[in-house]
Amino acid sequence: MLDDLSFPFNNSFADEMEGFFVPWQGDKVPDPQIVVLNIALAAELGLDPTVLNSAAGAAALSGAMAPAGASPLAMAYAGHQFGGFSAQLGDGRAILLGELIDTEGRRRDLHLKGSGRTPFSRGGDGKAVLGPVLREYLMGEAMHALGVPTTRALAAVTTGEEIARNGLEKGAVLARIAASHLRVGTFQFFAARGETEKLRKLADYAIARHFPDIVGREDRYLEFFRRVRDAQASLVARWVNIGFVHGVMNTDNTTISGETIDYGPCAFIDNYDPKAVFSSIDQHGRYAYGNQPVIMQWNLSRFAETLIDLVNPEDSDDAIRQLTNEINAFPAHYQQEWLRGMRAKLGLLKELPEDLHLANDLLKACEGQDVDFTNLFRALAGSVRGNDELARANFDDPAVFDAWAARYHTRLAAEDIAAELRAEAMNRINPIYIPRNHLVEEALKAAVGGDLEPFHKLLAVLAHPFTEQDGSETYALPAPVDAHRHVTFCGT
Ligand code: AMP
Ligand code: MG
Repeated sequence: MLDDLSFPFNNSFADEMEGFFVPWQGDKVPDPQIVVLNIALAAELGLDPTVLNSAAGAAALSGAMAPAGASPLAMAYAGHQFGGFSAQLGDGRAILLGELIDTEGRRRDLHLKGSGRTPFSRGGDGKAVLGPVLREYLMGEAMHALGVPTTRALAAVTTGEEIARNGLEKGAVLARIAASHLRVGTFQFFAARGETEKLRKLADYAIARHFPDIVGREDRYLEFFRRVRDAQASLVARWVNIGFVHGVMNTDNTTISGETIDYGPCAFIDNYDPKAVFSSIDQHGRYAYGNQPVIMQWNLSRFAETLIDLVNPEDSDDAIRQLTNEINAFPAHYQQEWLRGMRAKLGLLKELPEDLHLANDLLKACEGQDVDFTNLFRALAGSVRGNDELARANFDDPAVFDAWAARYHTRLAAEDIAAELRAEAMNRINPIYIPRNHLVEEALKAAVGGDLEPFHKLLAVLAHPFTEQDGSETYALPAPVDAHRHVTFCGT
């Protein structure tokens, strides 16, 4: 135990949920060094950044030394990976160090990814390396700044180890903050073993933690399902609205809280393309950009299956009927959230019936036109101000845009609002800066080679994605033509 480093831990999972985890320590590592520290997030957690930045802080955040009050543990979970079920996954290279109550009273997990082998490691080495750790750091911070619920990085720490991946790479640990690490896969682990009482305990814990207003309600398990469904419908709608492709939407990477988790081979689309896939392991496009809502519904169906015995212990047919109704309501919830997002992107205030077609038809117009998704929507503020040039220039054939724009201008005229006000509101929704694949790759390559400057510059630009920043013009440019076939690797 490291006594001079005190985190105000308040560990509900370790204290209340015995049997759902294995108490476990991180590996001793030769030389823990903090590479990036999230000072703003540390403050939010009530942690002193100078203390975190010390040798003791680096040792704690690498997992090598458990600070006083920690109850480090590896969580059990199962999961469907690319459609196939694994009854035992679990924290194979991570530990939950403990929970902190932040300055706003929210309970948050402090979790270390890459801290060494655990009883769940199967054939893996339990380690992570610097490139993917920094990638998760950057993507999570970008998503947070874009207003998308997400886990966030508190720190990236190198361990002084050399890890075999593509040759030898620098070992690293990501200290991650999450609303919790409960996943659909956590429920699947106990459902697969027929442990109904444990499932009930897990569901009650999740309800108390994430949906406290339904604690004790008789219909709480069905309502719990609805809440998770709605949180996930809203989350995927946000992903689609900003052009994000998660890349590995396995059920173990689908949270109960509704936060985005596990940034592996994720990417933002450059050109609009519903079929866009970036991950080298997603051979059949299961997790393609446009397929994400369907997959989320599929994942929620797997979640619903784990709740059958809780929803109606006496009559499983009745439980299945009720849960099926709720699953079937997912597309409508998703579409409502997506359309809400699209209205905001288009600057529409009223809800008119034709909006759905207007939004869909813009996207259809983009197909095969090499349209940069992010830049098109940002340019629409120009159209609102009376100048279509910026938007139409995104199309190979600008006439395709003109046909749509005529309808758009008619629709805008249905609302009585000053163009400038509308344009400004749109600019608070449609980002200029996203983590474009070519920029991320450049920054990570430099960082792994020892030059962190491009990483910090990109991180700083992405912290304010809606604000034009002098000198950062290149960060808003589409990928060079030869970078379009971007491929991400799990690199784990
Ligand atoms: P992920 O692809 O990171 O979501 O991980 C899926 C599963 O594989 C989880 O159970 C991880 O703990 C496990 N895993 C991934 N990488 C490793 C590794 N290097 N060593 C041990 N387990 C791993
Ligand atoms: Mg995972």
